[in-house]
Amino acid sequence: MLGSQDNSQAQAKKEVKYVLAIHGGAGTILKKNMTDSLEKAYIAALTEALEKGYAKIKNGETSQDAVIAAIEVMENSPLFNAGKGAVFTNQGKNELDASIMDGKTLKAGAVAGVTIVKNPIKTARAVMDKSEHVMMIAKGAEEFAKKQGLEIVDPQYFWTQQRWDGLQRALERDKERMELDHDGQQSNLPPVIKDEKFGTVGCVALDKAGNLAAGTSTGGMTNKKFGRVGDSPIIGAGNYANNETAAISCTGWGEFYIRTSAAFNVSARMKYGKENVASASKAVIDEIGKLGGDGGMIALDAHGNVAMPFNTEGMYRGTVTEDGEIKVEIYK
Ligand code: ASP
Repeated sequence: MLGSQDNSQAQAKKEVKYVLAIHGGAGTILKKNMTDSLEKAYIAALTEALEKGYAKIKNGETSQDAVIAAIEVMENSPLFNAGKGAVFTNQGKNELDASIMDGKTLKAGAVAGVTIVKNPIKTARAVMDKSEHVMMIAKGAEEFAKKQGLEIVDPQYFWTQQRWDGLQRALERDKERMELDHDGQQSNLPPVIKDEKFGTVGCVALDKAGNLAAGTSTGGMTNKKFGRVGDSPIIGAGNYANNETAAISCTGWGEFYIRTSAAFNVSARMKYGKENVASASKAVIDEIGKLGGDGGMIALDAHGNVAMPFNTEGMYRGTVTEDGEIKVEIYK
């Protein structure tokens, strides 16, 4: 039987408050396909992102500052499909999307299809803070980033061998599908190569003032065509924050997240349906799964409860609590 001291310890354990959660993408991430050194590199990068974000919170800075700090680490790492290391479009380019939202004011900023800004998440924040708009795309967004003095790079900066090889595999499969179609056989291959896309990054944070923020950044999906934009820069689809409910950042097959208004859907379930963050986020992932989509999300409520559901084999993810305890996980 538990003594009263044990009881209060158990209670204290239950009430652990999370201040930050991150993801580095969901997908077919299997231990058997992972080398020890790659696993270590992922753990180190996720840990560094959590540390940088946590330092901001600890220092009394805003949840938005924490989100930017954590995402910047992952955008600068070639391991993730965001910033350097982004996947390639069908035309062999890197077109980046990002968004951020402030849970206190419901202000938001987003960019889509940018090719020369080093840190799309910072551009999204500039759109939120320094413009009267919420979303800017392509050349216009780049022009705005330059005017804001944000770091500009040659598009070549984003190139990595691994993502280039991923595109070549996707193009091969495209050819296969077209050949099958010509032969009058139906191809079972997915319309976009979903398994070549891991690594969208996101962060949700709760600061000392009790304010939530969410940010998401991605290169989208390998072999995307015709200016395709996914859920990540769409407020309410791949990213959302509201102090009344939760901060949410998604990763997965973006078309399904747009169709289910995934991030806002979690918030709405909490607000109108009085669900908690765990049940609301799981319900939305289940809905996405039923439609044939896959992926995951991280969600943090204003009381410091976190949920990180996913319906894929794995999701790079991590959390840090109020007292600085860091946890990083990859597999199911
Ligand atoms: N959601 C992103 C997109 O569809 C991709 C991902 O999260 O893996 O653009």
